[in-house]
Amino acid sequence: MTNLESYYLTEEHELFRKSLREFLDKEVVPFVDQWEEDARLPKELFKKFGDMGYFGMTQEEKYGGSNLDFWYDVIFIEEISKSNSGGFGASISAHPYLSLSHLKHEASDYLKEKYLPKAIAGELVGALAITEPHAGSDVAGIKTTAVRQGDKYIINGSKCFITNGVFCDYMIVACKTASTGSSGISMILVEGNSNGLSRNNLKKLGWKASDTAEIAFDNVEVPAENLLGEENKGFYYIMQRFELERLTLGLGAIASSEWAIEYTLQYMNERKAFGRTINKFQVLRHKMAQLTAEIQSVKTFTYHVCKMHNDKNYCVKEASMVKYLATELSDKVAYQCLQMFGGYGYMEEYKMARFFRDSRLGTIGGGSSEIMCEIIAKMVIDDVNYQAQESRARNQDISIEELFATLPSRLKKDKTDGVEMNVLFEFENNLNYLIEIKNQEVKFNKIQDSTLTSHDLKLTTSTETYIGVETGKLNPQEAFMSGKIQVSDLGKMMQFGSLFKKLNNH
Ligand SMILES: Cc1cc2nc3c(=O)[nH]c(=O)nc-3n(C[C@H](O)[C@H](O)[C@H](O)COP(=O)(O)OP(=O)(O)OC[C@H]3O[C@@H](n4cnc5c(N)ncnc54)[C@H](O)[C@@H]3O)c2cc1C
Repeated sequence: MTNLESYYLTEEHELFRKSLREFLDKEVVPFVDQWEEDARLPKELFKKFGDMGYFGMTQEEKYGGSNLDFWYDVIFIEEISKSNSGGFGASISAHPYLSLSHLKHEASDYLKEKYLPKAIAGELVGALAITEPHAGSDVAGIKTTAVRQGDKYIINGSKCFITNGVFCDYMIVACKTASTGSSGISMILVEGNSNGLSRNNLKKLGWKASDTAEIAFDNVEVPAENLLGEENKGFYYIMQRFELERLTLGLGAIASSEWAIEYTLQYMNERKAFGRTINKFQVLRHKMAQLTAEIQSVKTFTYHVCKMHNDKNYCVKEASMVKYLATELSDKVAYQCLQMFGGYGYMEEYKMARFFRDSRLGTIGGGSSEIMCEIIAKMVIDDVNYQAQESRARNQDISIEELFATLPSRLKKDKTDGVEMNVLFEFENNLNYLIEIKNQEVKFNKIQDSTLTSHDLKLTTSTETYIGVETGKLNPQEAFMSGKIQVSDLGKMMQFGSLFKKLNNH
């Protein structure tokens, strides 16, 4: 274990890495060349990964997951990225980190029960379909429509560049359900064998072992219950899940760069020129030293952001920085390491050629480097708070459930050490919630009978007033003074308020 890893990982984590590595060396490495030829992974491979529990590590146990911490996912991404096939890594990780993460966070209980156990077991393979021929970076510009007709949606339009799109059993599709820009997008689950769906595998520069689809939807009928979360909130869901996607892409770029350095150093130790091995030439040694230093520093930052993510701190800015730095660096590593191989680097027989091709996608897919810089620039130059922007994207009319769902990421951990507090919210129409703060975590639950619930603080108000205060549309002092919000204990109310970061920049 190197120093960096020992700061973050336990012995159990490293034992997991060892057994995963053994599994990959047996079930993956010997076959990647064939899968690169086939331009897809065999379906049985997903089942093997499912049997090992790799798709459900951070999923709930009741659906077959193991409810482990995020570091298991970190290790999983690192090790699959060291198998010298970007296409294998993309395809096997798109299933858990693109499609399953949307099911976990936004799907109804009905959808979770129907799809999660089989998807976690690797019996069903998923994809996430957002990009369209005319809208990639500009997610809000998608044109595929889903029109509600009775208990169905009718989907028309097209998607492109969808990883696993050709062979997946289901896909989570971003569709327009209203004509109002980003706030009119919804996420709908579409089964791969639906009538009216046609899929075609695209030929690519790299990532060859993954299937990459262009998909046409011609009056595809989908049950209305296949809607994920709420209608027209899809843009917000996509933005929320980007944090994980960017982190996984960054982690993969770093791990594959580390693999490339190791592979190159081996070659440099064997290849001779002018009577000595090429690892004795100072100019080459310094190049390798520089690359290693850069990888180590970006990796250190990335582990810090992984910790933020694991601790459920909102880190979209940092995850965008990780994605930008790591994928740009991977291209530099690919270019310079290939140079060390001379002509052999250009030959398919050597592994550098594939790494060179595969790395190139990193700065494009999952949000290009330019888009990452746009996001970072808006945050550091224009002082835009993306969390706030996402709230605004939620149609200006965030629901009370969505508002409470922001509490974990807004909890100020440093202020909650030893704090235990139960806060009862009584809204109109007998709608009641209990917020529980304990062990530096916050949970919220809808409750039936507020009179039976013990609490330290009770707020009686309307959802409109409370949302108005939280989103900055209503002045909190005025709301209290006018009696729009009634509290059982003002001191406790002030303490409760001080435990959370503001929702908006107001
Ligand atoms: C192999 C592969 C797999 C993929 N897998 C998936 C998948 O599973 N699901 C999915 O939904 N999508 C997937 N994608 C799509 C990928 O996310 C998009 O290609 C990417 O977001 C870029 O979009 P675009 O290709 O439309 O480029 P465009 O958005 O057309 O961008 C073209 C160029 O303009 C730049 N640009 C655009 N807007 C701005 C701006 N505002 N400021 C500065 N520069 C800008 C871009 O950075 C880029 O350099 C995949 C793509 C590939 C190639």
